[in-house]
Amino acid sequence: MRTVYIFGAGASAAEGAPVVRNFLRIAYRLFKEEQSEPGLEIVWEFLEHFYGSRTAIKTGVDLDRYPGIDEIFNIVDWYLLHNQSFSTRFHRARLYDLKTALVKLISMTLDRTLPADSGMHHSFVAGVLGKSDILPTFISLNYDIVLDRAARSAGCVPEYGFYGNHDNHLEARGKVPLYKLHGSLNWSFCPLCGEISEHNDKVAHLLFREQNTIHCLACGGGNSQAIIIAPTLYKAYNISRLHNIWDCAARAISLSRRLVFIGYSLAPSDTSIIATVKRALNAPDQKREIVVVNPNERACERYRQILGKDCRIYREGFKGVVV
Ligand SMILES: [Zn+2]
Repeated sequence: MRTVYIFGAGASAAEGAPVVRNFLRIAYRLFKEEQSEPGLEIVWEFLEHFYGSRTAIKTGVDLDRYPGIDEIFNIVDWYLLHNQSFSTRFHRARLYDLKTALVKLISMTLDRTLPADSGMHHSFVAGVLGKSDILPTFISLNYDIVLDRAARSAGCVPEYGFYGNHDNHLEARGKVPLYKLHGSLNWSFCPLCGEISEHNDKVAHLLFREQNTIHCLACGGGNSQAIIIAPTLYKAYNISRLHNIWDCAARAISLSRRLVFIGYSLAPSDTSIIATVKRALNAPDQKREIVVVNPNERACERYRQILGKDCRIYREGFKGVVV
């Protein structure tokens, strides 16, 4: 049966990655309390001035009352995409520095919290690939490269879908479709030729204006940028390769007979994902099995709200067991 697996933050959290609500606290502990990271100071400064006059941050726990890392990232990205400032202190040029620091923060925090060998993803991907002759498709909403590594160690190269259509990707030998809708820590975008380069390891945190040593693999140009997309703003990024990835993901969902959501909360703010999934399920509308693996009761209820009462729900965390 043609199956599409959609991975959300909960899958990476099962391997040790922080989730949205505790990300800032954990990052603060790692890169402020335990060791000083000068490149990230601008993030703490921004958060101290997030409510106007300075609110001192004394420990990581103070950050629990802030919006999640994704929302902070979204807000900053909004100003940059619309050529606006946040405040006198955080004018446009500083917001650019802030965004690169946020990307660095995300990349470094995931690097420190995720083990190099992520056992659950490895056993899951190996199990899925071994179970069926029909190639599955993976869609990930995570920036980390845990799933990518698991595919490689199972003997498959990830097909990220920058080019071509999903039907072709299913026929490519030795490759498995892995569509990462919000970007990936091992990609760099070249503003000169418009290509996304894929690297074997994480590069997002290296992509800074001054010390940037990552060159575009297509044209050799410098000044590459990270592809870490704020979830609600992806359409504002005029990157055609990224739009191709979304088209491929939608086509994969359309062709699927079985759709498995793992560790994804289906938050109301994820309109772009929800709209894309719903539309794909109608093209054509056919009988599909929808499976949800999520320990959170509210998230499970969201699935019934959005996708109907027939969803098969496993109220449990991701453990690497094939479903
Ligand atoms: Zn280039």
